[in-house]
Amino acid sequence: MSNPYPYAAPVSQTLFDRAAIVTPGGVNSPVRAFRAVGGTPRFMVSGDGPYLTDADGREYVDLVCSWGPMILGHAHPEVIAAVQAAVARGTSFGTPGEGEVALAEEMVARIEPLEQVRLVSSGTEATMSAIRLARGFTGRTKVIKFAGCYHGHVDALLAAAGSGVATFGLPDTPGVTGAQAGDTIVLPYNDLEAVQAAFHAHPGEIACVITEASPGNMGVVPPLPGFNAGLKAACEKNGALYVSDEVMTGFRVSKAGWYGVDGVRPDLMTFGKVMGGGFPAAAFGGRADVMAHLAPAGPVYQAGTLSGNPIATAAGLAQLRLLDDAAYAKVDAVSAEIRGLVTQALTEAGVAHRLQTAGNMFSVFFTDREVRDYEDAKRQESFRFTAFFHAMLAEGVYLPPSAFESWFVSTAHDARAIERVATALPKAARAAAQATEAAE
Ligand SMILES: *Cc1c(COP(=O)(O)O)cnc(C)c1O
Repeated sequence: MSNPYPYAAPVSQTLFDRAAIVTPGGVNSPVRAFRAVGGTPRFMVSGDGPYLTDADGREYVDLVCSWGPMILGHAHPEVIAAVQAAVARGTSFGTPGEGEVALAEEMVARIEPLEQVRLVSSGTEATMSAIRLARGFTGRTKVIKFAGCYHGHVDALLAAAGSGVATFGLPDTPGVTGAQAGDTIVLPYNDLEAVQAAFHAHPGEIACVITEASPGNMGVVPPLPGFNAGLKAACEKNGALYVSDEVMTGFRVSKAGWYGVDGVRPDLMTFGKVMGGGFPAAAFGGRADVMAHLAPAGPVYQAGTLSGNPIATAAGLAQLRLLDDAAYAKVDAVSAEIRGLVTQALTEAGVAHRLQTAGNMFSVFFTDREVRDYEDAKRQESFRFTAFFHAMLAEGVYLPPSAFESWFVSTAHDARAIERVATALPKAARAAAQATEAAE
């Protein structure tokens, strides 16, 4: 039998075999296992600027950037210096510290509707806490979310989630109770009429609408013009909170995240990824009168042993301070250049595709139709992505191992890195053109 993955990674495979004994599926987050694309997940040992090096010593141009956080590239000297200085002072105190105040101030200064923030350690924790606060504030139970939007693995928000849930085609996950799922109303993305109908059907019951500010977890599916504004208006009219999940877009697509792009004022927002500088730091925040309901100021409980950790806040703050207008202009330019190369290669190879963009985030759908929601996203020929992915990997370019994820670039992607992507693309595009649906 011919090997569909010609470039073996024997050291990674050995590590993966070891991992599978002590960790379910061999990974600590499902998409990392390469199940959607097959082959050996690459165990990375180091990162430098736009490059990752795996355990077999092969170097890749990284177009995942740790799923978004590494917007300055890997091991940015100033971020590393800030981390080293913080580590030398001790790693956790379990008390308040100046670093968390400075990080919160930096965030609040960048995003006008963000009046107060509470720091947590993961995006999941941020959305979970925001939902609890929305329920505590409104005294209502139901939450509207959109199919294909991923908000972390919060019980109530896993229904029809994107990201790994999309990759594996998992239905509603076992372990989530009927009560938790029953309070979640899942609607098609970009469908304001469905939102209005849901408010009409559940008067006085809906605590909040949570949406990705611009979804990147079913691939990149930006909001249609007026969609976020329509959500906000529907929430206002019905006494619900508008919760904008900016864990992915926050501090990535602009200085003020997606809010800086569309200007629709959320009541609550959630953050993670870029704000942690590669460490576990995340946050939720928004209207001061809503945040005042959070303990110890108010009755809604929320806490964390490592919340506001001094290393994580030092890394996040150093990264945010380097993210000025010039940095975003650079990331946008890199994104535009790579998008142009992808379009050119796929067009020349005659592959039906749609490249969708939200700021500097983008992804390729193997379909010729516009993708407006999760159903559209699922209609793509994802077997072509598998062939494309492995051809890119063989040429030293690391893409997200799923057709349902955004690609991410950084300020560190220079001419040499882009040149490698340009060299890899024509081969990968031909592989996509020749791919046939796997008979499994
Ligand atoms: C990544 C992500 C999350 C979850 O963050 P974790 O830190 O992985 O828990 C939540 N919402 C969105 C939009 C994300 O992209």
